[in-house]
Amino acid sequence: MSTAQATQEPLLQIRNLSAGYGLVNVLHDITLEVRKAEFLALVGSNGAGKTTLLRTLSGLLPIQSGTITLAGQSLVGCTPDDIFRKGVVQLPEGRQLFPRMSVQDNLLMGAYRRSDKAQIRQDLEKVYAEFPRMAERRKQLAGSMSGGEQQMCAMARAMMAKPTLLLVDEMSLGLAPIIVDQLMENLATIRNQGVTVLLVEQDIHLALAAADRAYVLDTGHIVREGVAKDLIEDPELKRAYLGV
Ligand code: ATP
Repeated sequence: MSTAQATQEPLLQIRNLSAGYGLVNVLHDITLEVRKAEFLALVGSNGAGKTTLLRTLSGLLPIQSGTITLAGQSLVGCTPDDIFRKGVVQLPEGRQLFPRMSVQDNLLMGAYRRSDKAQIRQDLEKVYAEFPRMAERRKQLAGSMSGGEQQMCAMARAMMAKPTLLLVDEMSLGLAPIIVDQLMENLATIRNQGVTVLLVEQDIHLALAAADRAYVLDTGHIVREGVAKDLIEDPELKRAYLGV
């Protein structure tokens, strides 16, 4: 199988974006670009505004000013459903599975907006091949699995929606390092299939180790951007965020 490479071609472009809750702006003049087939990390501490940015991208929060385009088309004013149909799929913090439904039914929920019904069964088998632990547990109630398995199920469900751009919020939260490593491998595989990944993480080292490029968000402002492996070596970032 060929492996997709990050390109220079922009997929998502955010220009001078300000947004937040009601009259309170959380994001200030954000300019950021996600390129086709790249693995981009957005890192920052607790309360920096990372989730707010994802919620704004998904159409869940209105914008105060600025522009957001996906493949050149404006997303401003689009409903969350429109944005989802354009291929922007969020893997939310807290997973939001249906705990009393089986793994398989949860995965099929990921495809419920799709109209290519004939393809769905085929994609389900493909997703099971990528997530063999989900195949083993297809009949198990999602809520009875471990936190790591539930996160894996949420990722597999997001893949059933056939994303162009996968938005991943705080995937590592509360999970054992061995599970987080597995999930990061799954994300890398997803990117290698040509899906663009935007990973939002508080664990800066984890995100920078996996991503192609990254932006650092601090109290609603972008304070750094660059190639992820260069940022890991940035002395100021090491001091501020990596405790070095
Ligand atoms: P975390 O990792 O803790 O989720 P974050 O970087 O994702 O942090 P956000 O959740 O985006 O940060 O929060 C950014 C700011 O927005 C915080 O000051 C927070 O208090 C505020 N905020 C978050 N949700 C709301 C809300 N529903 N109403 C008002 N303010 C909110």
